Amino acid sequence: MKHCRVAIIGGGASGMAAAVAALRAPAQGGISKAERSVMVFERNRRTGEKIRISGGGKCNLTHAGPVEAILEEGFLRMNERRFLRHALHSFTNEDIIALMEAEGVGLEARPDGKVFTERGDADAVAEALSRMLKRAGTLMIYGSRVTRVSRKSGMFELETEGGIFSAERLIIATGGASWPQLGTTGDGIRLAVSLGHTKTPVSPALAPLYLINPPGSELSGIALRSVTIHASSGKEKSSRNGDVLFTHRGLSGPAALSISRDVARIMQTTGSCMMTADLFPSHEVSALEEELLLHAARNGSQMVRKFLQSCPIAPGGRIAGGNHPHGTIPTAFVGCILPHAGIGDEVVWGGLQKKTRQSLLSVLKRFPLGPVAKVPMEQGEVSAGGVVLGEVNPKTMESRLVPGLYFAGEVLDYTGEIGGYNLQAAFSTGWLAGTSAAQPPQE
Ligand SMILES: Cc1cc2nc3c(=O)[nH]c(=O)nc-3n(C[C@H](O)[C@H](O)[C@H](O)COP(=O)(O)OP(=O)(O)OC[C@H]3O[C@@H](n4cnc5c(N)ncnc54)[C@H](O)[C@@H]3O)c2cc1C
Repeated sequence: MKHCRVAIIGGGASGMAAAVAALRAPAQGGISKAERSVMVFERNRRTGEKIRISGGGKCNLTHAGPVEAILEEGFLRMNERRFLRHALHSFTNEDIIALMEAEGVGLEARPDGKVFTERGDADAVAEALSRMLKRAGTLMIYGSRVTRVSRKSGMFELETEGGIFSAERLIIATGGASWPQLGTTGDGIRLAVSLGHTKTPVSPALAPLYLINPPGSELSGIALRSVTIHASSGKEKSSRNGDVLFTHRGLSGPAALSISRDVARIMQTTGSCMMTADLFPSHEVSALEEELLLHAARNGSQMVRKFLQSCPIAPGGRIAGGNHPHGTIPTAFVGCILPHAGIGDEVVWGGLQKKTRQSLLSVLKRFPLGPVAKVPMEQGEVSAGGVVLGEVNPKTMESRLVPGLYFAGEVLDYTGEIGGYNLQAAFSTGWLAGTSAAQPPQE
């Protein structure tokens, strides 16, 4: 049986950060660097498969700005923010940027704060981390899935496809359960449970929404700007503001990806979920009605269709390169609004009955996007759920239940928004877990 001091399961963002940190941590308690052997078990043939496909192959590595803003914008739940605060302060966005730049990986912060690789080369990030691991002296065991972990006489015993290993400290950094084709099949959560931990239900997040009645091909590729989408079933409700993209299977785009975690939960709880869109979220129903009445009184001969196509009060001023002082509703989408409101293509404002105007108002404020068929786990950028945060010490990432056991990354029950927040959380929790695991046992 081979032995090491720190075993890390998973050679993704958090596992690699943990390994580098474990070997860089200052020697303490008489444990020399040579004695701090670190082994990383990775079931794939190379490290960082998810980093390599992240950000559409360009890697949105982190987000610019102060840590507190990252916590607030990147993590929607208070318990996630509380849990991640220490890790993100211990290893910040500036720290990962400095590490990458020292390895020659140029980065650029975009106006929206997302930090990407300058050359649009996500591989460069994974390769830089791999070089750091090699230099630090980590022993990488590739193509080796850890199938079982047990605790024996104060040591961890790991059963892998390449044999049995023992370790004094164990870091579980196996990622979540989305994109299983890249090796993340929820193993770490199962291993944690086998060691006595509790898990919250795992579900897809940052995933597209597949609808029971997908939009027609005329809508596929079309975006609605700055709308509010609502997900609901019975008493369960959730909403997001932002852009929504129609796809051939349903909905994508920032607002749909962000709400997908809640949609998956609603589906798990109630078995169904209805999506609607508020196309004028900054107008209350009464204010919108007033605007429409005013417009109708002044423009009786204008076709309703034409008005909607260049609607001066529609949101989304960013459309068409910012040429429109206000937004427009995409022409193809106007073709969907009118039949829902029972309005013919050629109807003018002057010919609109009160009942039909009310019906238009209701469609504009609550356009029925339809029932959700599925939130596909295999398409989720991350998964929600995992090892319960309350069972892990946020100051060290050590288990509160099993001494010497640590967790890092997406295996934990937190979920970041789109914007580089998930990789940052993986690097930060990984770094903290690695640093903590390298310390000698407390007397
Ligand atoms: C398409 C896509 C795009 C994304 N884009 C971004 C982005 O631009 N910015 C951002 O912040 N986040 C992005 N993410 C999310 C981000 O990649 C993850 O949140 C992050 O990689 C999680 O890091 P991790 O170390 O926890 O897990 P991972 O990086 O998933 O690493 C876990 C590793 O553990 C290995 N493993 C699992 N089980 C075992 C086992 N039993 N034995 C041995 N090895 C095992 C896996 O093979 C894997 O290599 C994206 C995700 C996807 C899928």
